[in-house]
Amino acid sequence: MSAPTSPDPVLTLADLESWSRPGTSLAVFGHPIKHSISPAMHNAALADLARTEPRFADWRYFRFEIHPDVLPRALEVLHAKQFRGVNLTVPHKIIAFDRVAAVDPAAQPVGAVNTLLWTDAGWRGHNTDGYGLAAAVRENLALDLAGTPIVLLGAGGAARGAAVECLQRRCASLWIANRTRENLDSLLATIAPIAGGIPVRGFAPTEIPRDLPTGALVINATSAGLRDTDPLPIDLTALPRPAAVFDMIYNPPQTALLKAATSLGLPTANGLSMLVHQGAKALEIWSGIPATRLAPTMNTAARAAMGV
Ligand code: NDP
Repeated sequence: MSAPTSPDPVLTLADLESWSRPGTSLAVFGHPIKHSISPAMHNAALADLARTEPRFADWRYFRFEIHPDVLPRALEVLHAKQFRGVNLTVPHKIIAFDRVAAVDPAAQPVGAVNTLLWTDAGWRGHNTDGYGLAAAVRENLALDLAGTPIVLLGAGGAARGAAVECLQRRCASLWIANRTRENLDSLLATIAPIAGGIPVRGFAPTEIPRDLPTGALVINATSAGLRDTDPLPIDLTALPRPAAVFDMIYNPPQTALLKAATSLGLPTANGLSMLVHQGAKALEIWSGIPATRLAPTMNTAARAAMGV
């Protein structure tokens, strides 16, 4: 395809196959992708950068609806068309892990990649979700993962990234609750080699362990809360009093879990800042500009796109 006039349309593999835009292009692949606010965040940051650094004037970020069945082909074409990088969202993060030429050592134990950088040898995979989580927790809740007991809800892809980040930053202890025991056991086995002496325990959300510590940071990494009809991922009143509750979900901005936490007088934060900071770190990997410099513009754009 020739240069699209707007970076906002939802593009397809066919658009990619005929790509001939001359400038530096970035992309996000997802299925579905139409609700993604990543183009708004990244293009705002790039426009801001271009004001002082003309080399970014032709950088643009595009979104593509890519079905997992065609992900390998899409990554191959994207590489041939020399896109500078691509973000991967649901359901591509784990599938792509085995399809990249190299993986950043910090992303290795996560087993999932959300940011790919073009290199001569092929895609280099990174994972910026853990960075985004740690930055958001610090910014919104004034808490550091280091030295804090963590109660992590969920055992899917996002929970896996969160668990690795908490352990790599040396949290005090890690308690993981998940509905399906098999998935919980699989996550516990994956992270056991990197626990490095930090106590790690798994439990069912309906059977709260007696020795759970007070003052824990509760992190919801389940998708329970995306819909009004979803059950609460845990009963907060059954836990020793936590320090705060962080929900990775940002749409809706106030999940039932966050409402319950607020009614208990607990500090809360949703996942919008995490989205911003993981995006800023991805743009740092592609541009060399520090994420901390990019994040404020991306934050403003994300909030405008969400109408909050
Ligand atoms: P996965 O599908 O990989 O995992 C889903 C998890 O949620 C599993 O642990 C699953 O449990 C649990 N779950 C699903 N439905 C329910 C339910 N009704 N009750 C209890 N548990 C449930 O998803 P991801 O890990 O990729 O994403 C999880 C959430 O994190 C999503 O809401 C996503 O939007 C959000 N996210 C936010 C990011 C951000 O930047 N803010 C970044 C990444 C993710 P089980 O094993 O029992 O099926």
